[in-house]
Amino acid sequence: MTFNELGLSAELLRAVADQGYDTPTPVQAKSIPVILEGHDVLAGAQTGTGKTAGFTLPMLQLLHREHPERHKRHHIRALVLTPTRELAAQVEESIHTYGKYLPLRSAVVFGGVGINPQIERLRRGVDILVATPGRLLDLVGQGKADLAHVEFFVLDEADRMLDMGFIHDIRKVLKLLPKQRQNLLFSATFSDEIKQLASGFLRSPVFVEV
Ligand code: AMP
Repeated sequence: MTFNELGLSAELLRAVADQGYDTPTPVQAKSIPVILEGHDVLAGAQTGTGKTAGFTLPMLQLLHREHPERHKRHHIRALVLTPTRELAAQVEESIHTYGKYLPLRSAVVFGGVGINPQIERLRRGVDILVATPGRLLDLVGQGKADLAHVEFFVLDEADRMLDMGFIHDIRKVLKLLPKQRQNLLFSATFSDEIKQLASGFLRSPVFVEV
């Protein structure tokens, strides 16, 4: 299996080649084609498996392919929720790296740092927002982040999110998203609580396990 067989565009293959990757990891080989087909995905994958590229690459492609003109508008089109600021920063860095040949703009927001630079960044326009739940809801409450145009939603490390007590925040965020959207959930483990959360918002998900 090579990256060329996954259906990714030339801009993304170039960014992957720049990173020096020659073979997709198992989670990438399985998830990239089904995400590109527009399916919701429930993926069992730990950190270190290459899961970030597994959702970032097809997300970038879909956002660029489906409505390339939309990046000129000031709407958040993709939202990635992560449990920690470290993970949020890493995911945003990956989006930046893999999306370097595409005109999509990403930003990251998390708590524990000043909110004003984040407000200013959002004001300038963001296509893809990576966020921790508390700060995101804070920004929404202040009218600085609008989730009404999100087409693509990723819940990363869902088990850690629940362990950290984010279930209510996640449910609040889900209520703010439009009904028509694609959803991905990544988790290293699948407790009954995760399964219940997943069945509440994923639509006919494809299960990807590695
Ligand atoms: P992740 O599991 O997404 O945190 O990724 C773990 C590490 O694997 C990151 O440092 C990536 O840069 C690297 N990585 C991701 N995909 C590949 C690949 N196909 N080949 C080699 N390294 C990769």
